[in-house]
Formats: sequence, C-alpha cells, structure tokens
Amino acid sequence: MISVAIDGPSGAGKSSLAKQLAAALGFIYVDTGAMYRSIGLYALRKGADLKDEVQVAALLPEISIRLAFENGEQHIYLNGEDVSLTIRQEQAGMAASAVAAHPAVRQYLLQLQRDLAKSHDLLMDGRDIGTVVLPDATVKIFLTASVEARAARRCLQLRQQGQPVDEEKVKADIEKRDWQDTHRDTAPLRQAEDAVLVDTSDMDLEQSFEALLAVIRRKAYGEEIG
Ligand code: C5P
Repeated sequence: MISVAIDGPSGAGKSSLAKQLAAALGFIYVDTGAMYRSIGLYALRKGADLKDEVQVAALLPEISIRLAFENGEQHIYLNGEDVSLTIRQEQAGMAASAVAAHPAVRQYLLQLQRDLAKSHDLLMDGRDIGTVVLPDATVKIFLTASVEARAARRCLQLRQQGQPVDEEKVKADIEKRDWQDTHRDTAPLRQAEDAVLVDTSDMDLEQSFEALLAVIRRKAYGEEIG
C-alpha cells in the first residue's frame, strides 16, 4: 500500500490539494481534521467544557464516526448524521483544536486512521500523520504558507461563499489555532524529519498541485520530473 502523509497548519491548502491529488493518483483521501471536528461538534452540542479532558473523554463511548467515499468525496457521519458541511464552520474548527489536545481523543482516532492505511492507497492529511499516525508513510509532506497568505485565502473563500469577512479576526483565529496546535503536549504539529517541506505562500493552487505531485512521483515511484 502507498501512503502519503500531508501535515501542516490550518489554511495551507492541505485538504483542497489532497483531494485533487487523490483523484489524480486514484487513491482515497482521508481528512483527519474532519474526525476531530466531528468530535468537537459533538462535545459542543453536549455543552461539555472542551478544555476538560475527563468531560470530553466521557463522551467518546457515545460517538461513532464513519467515513464513506461517495463519488470520490469523503462524507463523514457522526452517529449516522452526515455532518460533512456542519463541521466546516469555524466554531467546529476551534472546538476540534481544543478537543484534539486531549490524549484520550487522539488515542480514540489513531486506530481508525491506521486501519484505513492498511487497506487502501491513500493520502491522509492532518497535523501528526507523518510523525505519529503513519511514521512509515511512503511519502511525507509538510505543507505550509505564511499566516498572511493563509488569511488572505480564507477571506477570499468566505467572500465567495457570500459570508461577512473580518480580516483581522480571520488572521487572529489562524494564529490562535497555530499556537494551540504547535504547543500542545500530545502530538503537536511539527515537521517530521523525513518530510519534504513545501511552502505555498507564493504559489497558486495549480502550482502547489504540480509541486506536490512531483514530490509524490519522485518519492513513491522514483520518477524525476523537470
Ligand atoms: O485540518 P482542520 O482545520 O480540519 O483540523 C481541525 C483541527 O483538528 C486542527 O486545528 C487540529 O487541532 C486538529 N487536528 C489534529 N490532528 C490531525 C488533524 C486535525 O490535531 N491529524
């Protein structure tokens, strides 16, 4: 099985790129952030104190998460409900970042993520895929971009969705999430030693796609391009 681990901060373009790459390579795409978001959403709905590991851990036995691949798209089901759209809200992202700091939550998702890699060629994106989840991944990529570039992309996306945009708040939210993700004790966001660093600050989506495809072809198939 071929596994491609893509880690990096929020807003670097991981999920858009991983989705396109998976389609080009014929692999499945596993968005691990969606799993953390689903748990965050459930904890929010239950009114739990997201920072309290005991409270959040107590909810885990009530949660069932299922991934389904429908027409090449990942859908995520939380206790049978398709929450693929609901979890995209910023509130669910923040809740994900809070619950993801708890070892009990990470342990709960680890086996699910590893099992997927045993049975499929896949691209998996997240924060700790190359460092913790799939330390023997065939290809490891650390995808990043400056805070400014990531905030600008997020604002554009919100405008395209017709949503109100507060540029300062978007940037502050990204910085806050970066800080939480890199400073937690368990599985913090960091580049694996054997990961290839790709900085997309000055690249558009197409250039980023080509750059990543070249890395994957070189590492997984030994192809030299360009
Ligand atoms: O990638 P996405 O923004 O959907 O992830 C939401 C949050 O889930 C991240 O900010 C991070 O705290 C957490 N996460 C994680 N480990 C992963 C994927 C996501 O801790 N593998």
